[in-house]
Amino acid sequence: MAKRDYYEVLGVSKSATAEELKKAYRQMALKYHPDKNPDNKEAEEKFKEAAEAYEVLSDTSKRQRYDQFGHQGMGSGGGFSGDGMTMEDIFSHFGDIFGGGGGSPFESFFGGGGRRGGARRIVGSNIRIKLKLTLEEIAEGVEKKIKYKKKVVAKGVTFNTCSTCNGMGQVTRVSNTFLGQMQTTSVCPTCGGSGKQLGNKPPGSDSQGLVTEEVTTSLKIPAGVEEGMQLSVSGKGNEAAGGVAGDLIIVIEEVPHSELKREGNNLIHELYISFPKAALGGEVHVPTVSGKAKIKLEAGTQAGKILRLKGKGIPDVNGYRKGDQLVHINVWTPQKLTTEEKELLKKMENSENFKPHPDGSNKGFFDKMREFFSN
Ligand SMILES: [Zn+2]
Repeated sequence: MAKRDYYEVLGVSKSATAEELKKAYRQMALKYHPDKNPDNKEAEEKFKEAAEAYEVLSDTSKRQRYDQFGHQGMGSGGGFSGDGMTMEDIFSHFGDIFGGGGGSPFESFFGGGGRRGGARRIVGSNIRIKLKLTLEEIAEGVEKKIKYKKKVVAKGVTFNTCSTCNGMGQVTRVSNTFLGQMQTTSVCPTCGGSGKQLGNKPPGSDSQGLVTEEVTTSLKIPAGVEEGMQLSVSGKGNEAAGGVAGDLIIVIEEVPHSELKREGNNLIHELYISFPKAALGGEVHVPTVSGKAKIKLEAGTQAGKILRLKGKGIPDVNGYRKGDQLVHINVWTPQKLTTEEKELLKKMENSENFKPHPDGSNKGFFDKMREFFSN
């Protein structure tokens, strides 16, 4: 497809000033903005085309080159090519042209008081909900039904164009000063910038035409989330009459597990075995997030030993890898003994085999932990 002339794209003359270019681009960007034209490919193309045209014409040297050589003069690397340019590219490129700087594209396009341009997009407020999850749910991922209250637009609400600003969302005042006429533009005090006014307000709705309703929504929580993590569900927050709904923000709370402690994506279980079990070896059962696991202890297992159950931990929330479960062996020293047991132990105490003789293979706890977490 042949490229259209950049001036034509923005609907300005070849002698347009920087201010005129900016104004023209703003109008295009607002008209074809993806949020106003959801799933409209044509609008998206127009939006990109305008961004590309503005990118070139707003740069003095690029504009000179374009004026002299046309599209050929732009070559590769002159401006960005319209194809393969994403909306994010455009936003990161132009997010701050309209003043403000920083913030989201919307703040630049529509937000903040006193900026020039069309009506402000009204966004409902976000709703934050805490969601308690067990370690088992976190390990597997879970679908949760969540019941919460939110503001919805009352049935039968109608809107009129704001009479103060004629739907522009802002008002311009002209005042005479000793420097001449001065124009100041500010957000319309009547409609707050939306350009709309509530017409019919159904009974029971608040001053913004909203009513509170209890809703239920089903959410898929990915495996691997952790305490304090926030999941944002776009458009499930409070609605705004004449605008778009805010977000539902789910704040994850981990219910502490009675037998497993989470360290990142690894789980640690403190296993207590009896002294005879440690000496004789044998099978023991340990809890994991997916039920009991059987592990085999060698005869002569020392206290402090750490066993690794590979892949029995928590999956990474990005799905790349899974943590392990570490089983830290503790040997339980009896605190109550019968006379008979005492007799037996006294006999053992003097046996050569019962005398501690650590060799080099019994590393300290910290060495072992370091070893485990480093591979
Ligand atoms: Zn207004």
